[in-house]
Amino acid sequence: MSNISRAYRPKLFGDISGQQKVIETLRREIEQNKLGHAYLFSGPRGVGKTTAARIFAKAVNCENPQKGEPCLKCASCVRIAQNQAIDLIEMDAASHRGVSEIQEAVIDHIKYVPAALKYKVYILDEAHMLTDHAWNALLKTVEEPPEYAIFIFATTERHKVPATIVSRCQRFEFGRIEPKEVVNRLKELAKSEKVTVEDEVLFTIASKTEGCLRDAENLLGQLMSLGEKNITGEIASIIIPPSQKPIAAELLKLAIAGKTGELLELIGTLEQEGVSFIPLFDDLIDSLRDILLAKHVSTHAEMLNQAGESEKLLAGLTSQANDALIVQASHILIERRREAKHGIDPRFALELGLVAISTQSTHSANQATNQQNNPAPPSFPQSVKAGIHTPVTAKTAPSIQPVNNEMIDLEPKPNDVGNPNFNPQKPNNTESAEEPTTPSTAQIQIQDVHRIWHKFLQEFEDSKSLLFILKPCRVIGVEGDCVLLELEFAYHKKNIENARNKQLIENALRKHLNANNVTIKGIINEQNQENGIKTVKDTANSIIDAFGGEIIN
Ligand SMILES: [Zn+2]
Repeated sequence: MSNISRAYRPKLFGDISGQQKVIETLRREIEQNKLGHAYLFSGPRGVGKTTAARIFAKAVNCENPQKGEPCLKCASCVRIAQNQAIDLIEMDAASHRGVSEIQEAVIDHIKYVPAALKYKVYILDEAHMLTDHAWNALLKTVEEPPEYAIFIFATTERHKVPATIVSRCQRFEFGRIEPKEVVNRLKELAKSEKVTVEDEVLFTIASKTEGCLRDAENLLGQLMSLGEKNITGEIASIIIPPSQKPIAAELLKLAIAGKTGELLELIGTLEQEGVSFIPLFDDLIDSLRDILLAKHVSTHAEMLNQAGESEKLLAGLTSQANDALIVQASHILIERRREAKHGIDPRFALELGLVAISTQSTHSANQATNQQNNPAPPSFPQSVKAGIHTPVTAKTAPSIQPVNNEMIDLEPKPNDVGNPNFNPQKPNNTESAEEPTTPSTAQIQIQDVHRIWHKFLQEFEDSKSLLFILKPCRVIGVEGDCVLLELEFAYHKKNIENARNKQLIENALRKHLNANNVTIKGIINEQNQENGIKTVKDTANSIIDAFGGEIIN
């Protein structure tokens, strides 16, 4: 049972999944009796190259071929099926790569006319593994083969096959197999074994094996070896890690709709449910690819619509996200995933990434509205985050103030804290004083913090997520050893006070201030909090504003 791949290996060309073009050409050659002497089958592993080669060997030798297919009944067909045809030589070049092996198995063997079949067929699997000497020894035979000989070289790495050989061959390129075809094949296999498997499970197998049918079949075989007659998602999860695609699809739906509040709530719930965030990044990125493909390739859209609920949801998002947004979203998530893998709290990285997409999406929608209402043309460069510069040709209300562009500039700006126009806002939870600056007893002076701020920020060049929050924040005072940071939004405060981030920030401050006990405290700028919606809408092209996004909804 576990090797259903072998048990149900296709016996006819018509049974091979995918590869229609290749199969058609091969069948036609057989039908018209226009055979070559050397064939090169190349393509990824597990997509049917060797299977096609075996059927080809049978068909060319068949005494009664039907439209290019072997009859499976004649003496030749039976002999080959029973592995009793000494005229059919299958060689794994990965384990028989040397010149002496080629000499023995091919060059000496080929001198004699076929013992029983019409053609001697040599199938060399993993042909690219042959040594140069072996190829050289083989070259003359391939150049001038006896009438009765046919070579089929199968390889996953065509570029490693010597050009002198390639030029002698008819070349056939086998492609990866479409998920829909993989699913159809798996359904047939399950039916033959009288087992039912939920569609969602089959699509998960197809997605995880990326067009390699053999792997997909083996995975199904493992599931079947559990002995269940009805394989549900729950049963499958014993062997295949459950797909997080449904979660990914739901998160993307909220992000694309700009529903930042719901998005953050859902992430919170997911954490409580123990969802692992780093693999979720992969599913999100994969889902974005699905959306992009479905927008432009009709067969992919069809495939999604015929798959599980989450795939249908993704297909439905194609009309709501433009290409630029999907591309930006992918870049954002790839970057956040990298950070999550390098120490930033994965939940924080995920929140940052998805909120940025949500804000970007809202911004795109606003732009579209502005464009309709106010077709004034000035365009401006928009930078979403480091490394992504997206030229925006859409028209925007010309009310964007330079300060907004400054906010999204990633170069450190000492002005953030030293700005002479800066009017420090009194933190509402400290005792009232006209000047909320450093208490006279403080060991650290606010000026000290201002002085080192630039260098301090540079510590976070590799943690862009924190940098985005720290850059616009303002040092508004020092209480004892505690540096008071005024933040735009509650969400910023929550994140810099997250244990891991707080420690990173405090360690950096301690280093630059040369003081051992520095701590930080975040204070929310109440005015910004109230004006959250307006701020986001006015300066929406900044990822910094993304954090305020939760107020939109
Ligand atoms: Zn036959």
